[in-house]
Amino acid sequence: MPTTFRFRWITRALVAGFLFNVPASAQDAHATHSGAMSGAMSGDAHPAMVLRAARLLDVRSGRMLENAVVVVRGDRIESVNPDQLPEGAHEMDLGDVTLLPGFIDAHTHLVSQIGAGSFTDAVMQTLADATLGAVKYGGITVRAGFTTVRDFGGDATVALGHAVERGDVVGPRVVPSRNPLGITGGHCDITGFAPGVREVGPEEGVADGPWEVVEAVRYQIKHGAQVIKTCATAGVLSMEGPVGAQQYSLEEMEAMVREAARHGVKVAAHAHGSDGIEAAVRAGVASIEHGSFLTEEIISLMKEKGTYLVPTTYLADRIPLDQLPALVRSKAEIVLPVMRESLRRAVAAGVPIAFGTDAGVYPHGENAGEFEIYVRMGMSPLDALRTATLNAADLLGVDDRGVLAAGMLADIIAVPGNPLEDITVTRDVRFVMLGGRPIKHVMGGMDMHGMHHGAGGR
Ligand SMILES: [Zn+2]
Repeated sequence: MPTTFRFRWITRALVAGFLFNVPASAQDAHATHSGAMSGAMSGDAHPAMVLRAARLLDVRSGRMLENAVVVVRGDRIESVNPDQLPEGAHEMDLGDVTLLPGFIDAHTHLVSQIGAGSFTDAVMQTLADATLGAVKYGGITVRAGFTTVRDFGGDATVALGHAVERGDVVGPRVVPSRNPLGITGGHCDITGFAPGVREVGPEEGVADGPWEVVEAVRYQIKHGAQVIKTCATAGVLSMEGPVGAQQYSLEEMEAMVREAARHGVKVAAHAHGSDGIEAAVRAGVASIEHGSFLTEEIISLMKEKGTYLVPTTYLADRIPLDQLPALVRSKAEIVLPVMRESLRRAVAAGVPIAFGTDAGVYPHGENAGEFEIYVRMGMSPLDALRTATLNAADLLGVDDRGVLAAGMLADIIAVPGNPLEDITVTRDVRFVMLGGRPIKHVMGGMDMHGMHHGAGGR
């Protein structure tokens, strides 16, 4: 990070006041943070910070290191358990916690939170509304330990990603899709309105036939998409027909994957029904989202092609069905139980799995609830943690995160206890560092950072 950038960030932080106005009880906790900042201001652009914790999980080897020390400099991890500590480093002892790499959720919708109004949002919400939602829900998400998301949320989360990288907003790093691609009247279009109300085209992601699909891919990428999201089949949360029905043809999806690949971009396919899943896998998408009706043939095809399954199963416990239209409720009742059984078979067969939750369909911030379902469906806790670190980083195509090692981004979280013995501790994130910057530190039940931020202080 160039010095000027760092200085600008520091100035902003000071103006925002989150380094000052600390109540007496929190002063000790803050001394180390603000000390590091004033080090930077006195001319040393990248002072080291030393994090100490009782344990650190190396997700690659599966080894739990005791009495862990992580040296952070600038926005990167400089070393893990080095023989010698850098001189004059500012230390933070986090105590009896386990350090983990910041989690990655490969399927979020940060712009909104599902509820009774969800089916009219399309014609009542402005982009400004969506953007403010993304700031709020992004804040909640990153404080829950999810320091990177792959988000399917239009221009709002493209902008959120930029603001987070600049240090303007506290939120997760974003790999955005901009608008999802879908057929006219399909799950990625918005249906249920009279003709003439919100009729949209390739720029908004609604595209029919290979050439329009190519146009739609190019337009999303032009405006910031780093992944293409598509609806290969119908879905639950929409007012169109059978939930499993294939929507894009194989030909359309092949055109989509080919065009995206020319730009170095992968395709993520929302898919419930078997025909649509199989067509998407054959077309070469990088991931199947939801994957409700997996057949044995699809399972072996996904293994052969290295296609990730992004299961999104925690939401089944938390989706507010009573607030949703009857058609949506009946579709949910068909799909949700089947989705978990498919996951169980995919885990047993060794299909590559990346962590994803469909955040927004359940209350933002509960993302870690997904780990428990993976473990219940037969995954070891270590493999479950890998889905949100190594595997998700691989799916997103980012090699600078997902493991605590020298040279990686200093996206570091801490949970109490040992997550290999009790995966539910992932719901209780006590500390979050984003790019070398502590943004959450719970002590005595209070978040010493969140308390200065208002919204999203969980
Ligand atoms: Zn989704």
